[in-house]
Amino acid sequence: MKVPVVELSDCILCEVCTEICPEVFQMNAAGYVEVIDLDAYPVAEVDEAIKNCPVDCIFWENK
Ligand code: SF4
Repeated sequence: MKVPVVELSDCILCEVCTEICPEVFQMNAAGYVEVIDLDAYPVAEVDEAIKNCPVDCIFWENK
């Protein structure tokens, strides 16, 4: 299954992904972006977040 992953060491916490795709990306209590556990991810929305992430730190991983 294709799962979106955020490279947290590069993430600048701009919250673009959480605005574009809140069903997948959220800020956790520790103040970092996390990918919500889902059975399937909305490809178009995640691709939109990937495209708009200013530091290109979101990518798909096969799990
Ligand atoms: S768009 Fe990219 S840099 Fe911005 S919060 Fe999301 S993962 Fe981090």
